[in-house]
Formats: sequence, C-alpha cells, structure tokens
Amino acid sequence: MEVTNKFIVIKAKIDGEPQQSDFELKTEPFSLMVNQGSEDVIIKNLYVSIDPYQINRMKTVSSSQKASEFAMQIAPGEVIDAYGVGMVVASRNPKFVKGDYVVGLISWGEYSISKGFILSKLDPVGFPLSYHVGLLGNSSLIWAHAFVGFFEVCKPKKGEKVFVSAASGSVGNLVGQYAKNLGCYVVGCAGSPNKVKLLKEKLGFDGAFNYKEETDLNSTLERYFPDGIDIYFDNAGGEMLEAAISNMNLYGRVALCGVISEYIDVEKHKTLNLLNVIYKRIMIQGFLSGDYMHLFPKFVSATVDHLRTGKMQVLEDISTGLESVPSAFVGLFHGYNVGKKIVRISDDLGDE
Ligand code: NAP
Repeated sequence: MEVTNKFIVIKAKIDGEPQQSDFELKTEPFSLMVNQGSEDVIIKNLYVSIDPYQINRMKTVSSSQKASEFAMQIAPGEVIDAYGVGMVVASRNPKFVKGDYVVGLISWGEYSISKGFILSKLDPVGFPLSYHVGLLGNSSLIWAHAFVGFFEVCKPKKGEKVFVSAASGSVGNLVGQYAKNLGCYVVGCAGSPNKVKLLKEKLGFDGAFNYKEETDLNSTLERYFPDGIDIYFDNAGGEMLEAAISNMNLYGRVALCGVISEYIDVEKHKTLNLLNVIYKRIMIQGFLSGDYMHLFPKFVSATVDHLRTGKMQVLEDISTGLESVPSAFVGLFHGYNVGKKIVRISDDLGDE
C-alpha cells in the first residue's frame, strides 16, 4: 500500500538566525510495505522533539557536525531525523511488530523508515506518550542533559548555591528541580516575566530573573548570590557564562550543556576571563549526554517516583501538526517555548 508522506526540509544551509521561510513542506509517495530481506521498520510518527542543537546540523560548517553521529550535517531537501514517538505500521525487524509504540530516532515527517538504529519499543508505563519524547525518553536524552550534567558533572552537595540559565527550557527546568529536591539554593534566569513567575511559583526556585531586563549581568548575579555561586549549569554561553564565572566561588563547577546564544550569533563567542578560572580553581566541563546512557536506570529510579508523587513537575509545550515544526523550531531562539518543545504530528494516538 502506498500513501503520501509529508515531511519538513531545509531549502538551503542556514548560517544565521533561522526563519520559517528557510523551511518547506515536501510531499512524496511512501510505501507502507517493507521489502523482503530488509530489517526495516515503518513508523507512523506521533510526536517529534524540537531541539536547539539541530541548528548546528543545518549550518554550512559547525564543529559539532564531525563530533558525533547524532550531530551530522543535514542536507537541503532531505528528511530531517529527530527524536520522537511513533507507532509501527509494518516491520520485518525481529524487535518490532505492527502496533508497537516505539521511541527513538524518527523524523520531522508523517512517516519514518528505520533500520532499528536508536529505536526501542516503548512501554508508556502509565505516563502520556509525550513524556517519552522529552523527560522520560531513553534516547531523547533530555533526562541525561539534566541528570548527568547536574549530578555527574557538577557533583552537587546539599546547601550549595546553583545558577541555571535558560531555566524554563526543557533541560534547565529539570536541573533546577533536581537541585531544589537535593536541598540547594537555586536561581534561574529566563527571558520573560511569565517564565520568571513560573520558576518561582510553580517550580519553587529560590530566585529567578528576566535576563533581558538586566543591563549588568555581573551585578545582577552578585545581587542573587551575595555569597557566590558554587555551580553554574550553562545552557546559554556568551555574556551569561562570563558573568557567572565572575561570581563563582573557589572550586566552583560549571557544566557546559549548551551555548544557545552563540548558535546563531558568532559575535557572542567570548574569551573568558581565564584568570578568574585559575585563581578560583574553577572546573569547567563540557559534556555530551550520549556518553552516559548506562545511567538511564539510575535516572529512572531517581525521577519516576518524584513525578508520581508530584515532587517534580513536567513542563511541556506541545504544538499540533507537522506544519507547525518550522515555527516551533524558530521559536526556540526567541524563547517562545516554555519547557520541552514537542510537535504532535498525528491525532491517531492510540492512547486517547
Ligand atoms: P530549551 O531551553 O527548551 O529552548 C531554548 C531556550 O533557550 C529558549 O526557550 C530561550 O528561553 C533560551 N534562549 C534562546 N536564545 C537565547 C539566548 N540568546 N540567550 C539565552 N537564552 C536563550 O532548549 P533545551 O533543549 O533545554 O536545550 C538547552 C541547551 O542545552 C541548548 O543550548 C542545547 O543545545 C543544549 N543541549 C546540550 C546537549 C548536550 O548533550 N550537551 C544536548 C542537547 C541540548 P528564554 O526565554 O529564557 O530566553
């Protein structure tokens, strides 16, 4: 049986701030039959993840493209792979049968074809399917960015003072919640008054500020951290990283998760005041969450109970329809999302 498959592509490489006009919707015939002798799985996509790192895959050149197979360059006109949840419609792969929910590498399209690479059968364990795109997705790695970045890289202790940037985003909000549950003093920054309110009132941060309203980030951080910062979880880079380093305590730790302010504006690349790093013996560590897959069971045991008992909140921001993928993606760079940005591709969810 053949259907038409709609999918989103880039028209050309994107080297600056992404615009919706950089993307187009393509339609092609798509067979729902799997060729004999192959191990292909055909998936109807239900939810897909929208992530900032994809912009680096769309550039003419980015150092990230050669660093990891997950970050390989995206060619104009080609299917864009992305994490998500779908349902198997046909399979010759022994690990999957028709009707299985799957989670892993699918695509920004209505249907995906997979060889089973970074794909696993999904048992929703009583949670909505969308949770498995973001927080609980064993291959989306949102859990890993937050969990391993905070616990393995920052090695936090109860009572320490923690600063998180892009704190209402998918990774940042979780880091803040882990830190609060551990008994740390936590301050986050975000780009709107509503986000600041949410961090303080819904997620229980000790403090939060709108970085877009601050004219001197250095003195802002001095105000929120009169006794200095022990841990900075960096999602932003640029001036925020510089200001955080200036306010770190001796033996402070910085987890470099992402530098979103630098992804679309190369002018933001800054040379840090390295004397600060030396004299304060600061540890700055970049990390790639894919290196920590073995910690997934540890993450599950540390998190699922918190979700069930309400000690942790899930922040999701779900748009509907494949056509909304470009605006959802572009919106990440303007701060339009609150929490994990996801697009629901199909209403045929099976869980409703
Ligand atoms: P996200 O925070 O859900 O979405 C992006 C948010 O970043 C926006 O909502 C916006 O919030 C903020 N932002 C946008 N432009 C900014 C700027 N110029 N300066 C400061 N903040 C800005 O995204 P995420 O998925 O959680 O990712 C967070 C970071 O982690 C990204 O840098 C991402 O690339 C990185 N990451 C790292 C790994 C890894 O393995 N190390 C893996 C995946 C992602 P505001 O309203 O607050 O501005």
